[in-house]
Amino acid sequence: MISFSTTQIVDYLKSKDPAIHHFLLEKADRYRQENRGRAVYFRGLIEYSNICSQNCFYCGLRRDNLFIKRYHLDREEIISLAMEAHNNGYQSICLQSGQVSSSKEIDLVAEVVATIKELSGKKGQGLGITLSLGELSYQQYQQLWNAGAHRYLLRIETSNPVLFQKIHPPEQSFSRRLECLQALREIGYQVGTGVMIGFPGQSYEDLAYDLQFFREKDIDMLGMGPYIPHPDVPLADEKKEYISDVFGTSIKMLALARIMMPDINMVASTALQSIHPDGLKMGLKAGANIVMPILTPEKNRQDYMLYANKKHSAFETLQQDIKAAGYEPTLWQWGDSPHYFKRKREQAKGE
Ligand code: SAH
Repeated sequence: MISFSTTQIVDYLKSKDPAIHHFLLEKADRYRQENRGRAVYFRGLIEYSNICSQNCFYCGLRRDNLFIKRYHLDREEIISLAMEAHNNGYQSICLQSGQVSSSKEIDLVAEVVATIKELSGKKGQGLGITLSLGELSYQQYQQLWNAGAHRYLLRIETSNPVLFQKIHPPEQSFSRRLECLQALREIGYQVGTGVMIGFPGQSYEDLAYDLQFFREKDIDMLGMGPYIPHPDVPLADEKKEYISDVFGTSIKMLALARIMMPDINMVASTALQSIHPDGLKMGLKAGANIVMPILTPEKNRQDYMLYANKKHSAFETLQQDIKAAGYEPTLWQWGDSPHYFKRKREQAKGE
């Protein structure tokens, strides 16, 4: 495991030298090979609702965006999508939605999680369930854990509290998000976080601090992707951009993350695949070992546009592309983050 100083990271990120790019990718690929092998694991992404109480300035699902049709799949539909995924070889799904923290909603999700665990458990170890539902209370995270979810994704979006406040309304706070990440860790989840790369106002220094933040927080999973403007949100009008090559910078961020945190799980994000035809391939080469194919029904997909021109690849195409890039699409395995088990062992020793 390698540590870099902030200045070193900034120099790498700013560099236009192809030799630096090559050096980082080569190192990341070697670290990935040594720690995570060539396997690429699948998380079937079910975006079951776009209803959201939050008002993030960058996101197409924000409460005040009146241009999208709000939907919520019913319990049977979510369960049947999950079971179909399981039949096709997925060992994990991710349930994602806008943020709705009413107890009625969380009861429903908990019941759906428990049912999917029970139905899929009849055939082997059952589906691994990741949740990405935003900021909830400690008790609600606990309730969903008790129901059988075991991983949770909650991006910090930026580790700079001042910048965080610039892209969120006053009622949303950086400290609240930190509390949520801490709660998830305490309860026992594999915890994933991440940031958007290249949004207005963000600097290379901010990105360097992001990488150090992930290390410091000892995270198990990482999801980083380029920021892609959405036409109907406030941040679309903001033009203060410091980062020149968002795609190249994103790839270098992934590579640096893999070098700094060799045993975590890291996703080749949909956003990365949406802004560049080689997004998947380059993401994998930079050390990503997770993909999240979208399983949301066709009829709802255009209403889950976090940003413009979100890409969707069919399961088979993804598998072929992964093979073509030199990696192994790996079905029938959970592919959990070894980092999680390591920190659990260390925790147990310390107690
Ligand atoms: N409600 C859940 C899911 C949010 S959407 C939650 O709060 O965690 C998942 C992620 O999409 C966000 O965390 C954000 O990082 C990303 N996202 C939203 N808008 C985006 C944009 N315009 N460009 C790139 N990524 C975006």
